[in-house]
Amino acid sequence: MNFAFDEGRKTPGTLPAVFVSHGAPTLAIEQNATVEFLKRLGAELGRPEAILCVSAHWNTQAPEVSGAERPETIHDFGGFPEELFRMRYPAPGAPQLAGRVRELLGQAGLACKVSPERGLDHGAWVPLGLIYPEADVPVTQLSLQPTLGTEHHFRLGRALAPLREEGVLILATGSATHNLARIGRGEVPPEWAREFDEWLFRKISEGALEELLDYRRLAPHASVAHPTEEHLLPLFVAMGAGSAESTARGRSLHRGWTWGSLSMAAYGFGSGV
Ligand code: ZN
Repeated sequence: MNFAFDEGRKTPGTLPAVFVSHGAPTLAIEQNATVEFLKRLGAELGRPEAILCVSAHWNTQAPEVSGAERPETIHDFGGFPEELFRMRYPAPGAPQLAGRVRELLGQAGLACKVSPERGLDHGAWVPLGLIYPEADVPVTQLSLQPTLGTEHHFRLGRALAPLREEGVLILATGSATHNLARIGRGEVPPEWAREFDEWLFRKISEGALEELLDYRRLAPHASVAHPTEEHLLPLFVAMGAGSAESTARGRSLHRGWTWGSLSMAAYGFGSGV
């Protein structure tokens, strides 16, 4: 699939905001089409000045951004191969970017606290390890507020849009479908997962913002695909950061499946996509 961004993609001001599905932690040690896609994505995007990662695995009541100078690698999972627990992603932190995030959110009326020590959870370091394996781009994380829904996260993204003018890659990471009670090893994804994933693809391609924001009511099998919302909410941050005022139109960068029913879909939003 051709997912090339435009020629100006390496110039500050044209960086897209990106949503990737991170699947299971084992993505870090697998060889498959999603791994290949993520490796190519880093080359396509070029090297940003810094990365703001919004992962499904950091949930707080109100927005928090990490000010850690050297964020630790958090192994926030269990029951996976020992090899994964030995992996580290030693990228430098981005305390200056954390301050800028706090400022931008504050200007939008969204109070944001700087957390001095928060490290990188696997929703961040697993895809980052494939996109930027050299771990030399400063990175920080912004937390999600799972109880505050889609509009809040779209608003967070809108407030952060100026970062794209400043050479910052906004990387949102979650899962286009995520029901851990229904994962499997089947080759063919179940109907509920396929139908939800297809709806998402269609609405993002159309830029149907109002419908996307109301996905829980409008999308087929929404509550099965996402019994809780935290793995889809990062998508709305990317959408907000990369969209014009009234549209959510994005570009499909990758589609695939893992563990039977986990969609590995990825989307880019904003200029150049
Ligand atoms: Zn996850």
